[in-house]
Amino acid sequence: MLDLKDLEYSELSEYIKSVGAPRFRAEQIFSWLHAGVCSYDEMTNISKKTRAVLEKNTYVSTLKIIEKYVSKLDGTVKYLFELPDGNAIESVVMRYEHGLTICISSQVGCRMGCRFCASTIGGLYRSLTAGEMLNQVIFAQKDMGERIGNVVIMGIGEPMDNLDNIKKFLHNINNDKGLNIGYRHITISTCGVVPGIYSLAEENLPITLAISLHAPNDGIRNTIMPINRKYPIAELIKACHDYYNTTGRRITFEYSLISGVNDGKKEARELAALIGDIHAHVNLIPVNKVEERAYKKGTRREIEEFCSVLKELGINATIRRELGADISASCGQLRKRTLNLDTAVK
Ligand code: SAH
Repeated sequence: MLDLKDLEYSELSEYIKSVGAPRFRAEQIFSWLHAGVCSYDEMTNISKKTRAVLEKNTYVSTLKIIEKYVSKLDGTVKYLFELPDGNAIESVVMRYEHGLTICISSQVGCRMGCRFCASTIGGLYRSLTAGEMLNQVIFAQKDMGERIGNVVIMGIGEPMDNLDNIKKFLHNINNDKGLNIGYRHITISTCGVVPGIYSLAEENLPITLAISLHAPNDGIRNTIMPINRKYPIAELIKACHDYYNTTGRRITFEYSLISGVNDGKKEARELAALIGDIHAHVNLIPVNKVEERAYKKGTRREIEEFCSVLKELGINATIRRELGADISASCGQLRKRTLNLDTAVK
């Protein structure tokens, strides 16, 4: 059965025409779907006949909230959503001064293998559809009862490993008949899948690209991020230049500080030299605890020193606030889960 949320608006429009309904219905149906209805019956301004036709060949996809955790420290909310196949993914809603931001997952698991990240433990089960990505925003917003204005694709999975669906998702979420989230309010984070960066640049959308860099040289990066063996730092930086030159958007570099691995002053200076000529911002993340991994964060002082070295060398850098620390909702702590062992085991 077809999930209409997997279609781009133009495709939906064609589909509606093909089932004999007037074209303007597409706009109404699109709006209903994105407002979070759970069945065609709720689409009260659509004729019964059209609803019946749609019901026969398509379905209204939903996401069920199976667990919800609210941080007592900062109000961050983590959702565990059930997918139709019995797998589950996590999404996180954070409250900032400028409104709500959701961090969504793009895959069930991940095959990138970053050594410090929980999402990759157990590998990749499958990619999410465009509709499943949209549904995280739709149903979190419905539950929060408040508009979510910013989306970061930084949850479970590697977005560049699912780029076709990501592009559909982006076009749909930006559509003013639906959630109408501006591209400037969307960030895509990648571990450095270089062809994906070029492909996204070709779309020429003003989306923020975040690069999970985490090391200033190939020696260190190879030991913590397997993707670096395929696409070494020099190629990655070249792709960042291309992205900036095409879109005009400042690049964000994420750098998780791991004690004794990548957090020395030497590495800070090396990082400054590496990215000095890119219009970029560095987001320093004290590495979060993952049970299966031995990596540790440094002291607050060490982290601040790393940041100071960057700033002294003219790099725009900040230390990211750690939100949702009491509910394991921080970077790299989200993991895939299996709800029903009969239908979904890897
Ligand atoms: N696959 C994408 C997006 C998901 S990860 C990517 O790699 O960018 C979101 C961010 O959290 C990435 O920067 C990732 O490297 C970082 N991260 C993963 N595990 C972490 C941990 N234990 N502590 C801090 N950051 C972590």
